[in-house]
Amino acid sequence: MADSEPQRPCGRLAPSPTGYLHLGNARSFLLAWLQMRNMGGRIILRIEDLDTQRAAPNAAEQIVRDLRWLGLDWDNQLTSDYFQSNRFPLYQQALATLQERGLLYPCFCSRKELRSIASAPHGADGPIYPGTCRQLTHAQQQQRSQEKSPAFRFKVCPGTVVEQHDEVAGLQREELGQTTGDFIVARADGVVSYQLAVVVDDIAMGVTHVLRGDDLLGSAPRQILLHRTFGATPPSFAHVPLMLGDDGVRLAKRHGAVALRELRESGVAAQQLIGWLAWSCGMIDRPEPTTATELISEFSLRTIPREATRLDASALSFFASR
Ligand code: GLU
Repeated sequence: MADSEPQRPCGRLAPSPTGYLHLGNARSFLLAWLQMRNMGGRIILRIEDLDTQRAAPNAAEQIVRDLRWLGLDWDNQLTSDYFQSNRFPLYQQALATLQERGLLYPCFCSRKELRSIASAPHGADGPIYPGTCRQLTHAQQQQRSQEKSPAFRFKVCPGTVVEQHDEVAGLQREELGQTTGDFIVARADGVVSYQLAVVVDDIAMGVTHVLRGDDLLGSAPRQILLHRTFGATPPSFAHVPLMLGDDGVRLAKRHGAVALRELRESGVAAQQLIGWLAWSCGMIDRPEPTTATELISEFSLRTIPREATRLDASALSFFASR
């Protein structure tokens, strides 16, 4: 591509195959898809089965089925290259690059030890790592490696601040030393962290736009830092509010028939669901049946609610009455 040629926008749908897609996933995916189709961009489907232990059997097939039912498509062939479980060599290369640049160190702390750092302040994702293993000498590292295999942490330089304008959540500013500290990029069992894998993949796949649920807002600064470390321009981020159950808690099975599969099997039409989701995002005035394609021209980040949507009894009965 010539330097002067602007990069074509590219977004992604990045489900983890740990269970069936539910209404909340459907809304985030619909929005990510609409954002790209509205911009004339590409959209990639990538299955994030990094943690093979947690991957549910056939979950990827089920996800594909749910997405097709919703009327969402993607521009890649879903070959093995788009499953994170097949991309480990690439992640190992990225780890080696960071290692060569002196940006990693082995961490031998056990979960128990980490939990016992009771006095350590907590950030969004748990206690801030106090840097215990950063101080180990090479000889101490060698000696401890004989007893157990270490995890690897990315060194956050003191005072590192990541500032970004999230297209939905607004201006975000985070000093990583105050929120996470040095963070894990590879676990002791050798599996790379979600943070690293997602950055390696987004760079390799030319992703320019990430639209996803705001449960991942706290991950963006670490990901932006990794993008910059690899010399890549971070994508533009849009973190959209989640859908919650009527008790204000993240959607789960106990909230009733919220899995797309259940809705489909109980006779809800995809158009009804799409219409309801679009209405819940302020794209249309009434929850009338429509298709994802019909919404492309209606899409705007501005109408997306800034607060989580509660899936209350009236919403559930809306589906039940179809
Ligand atoms: N696979 C992650 C999830 O399902 C999403 C990762 C991302 O969008 O960065 O929660």
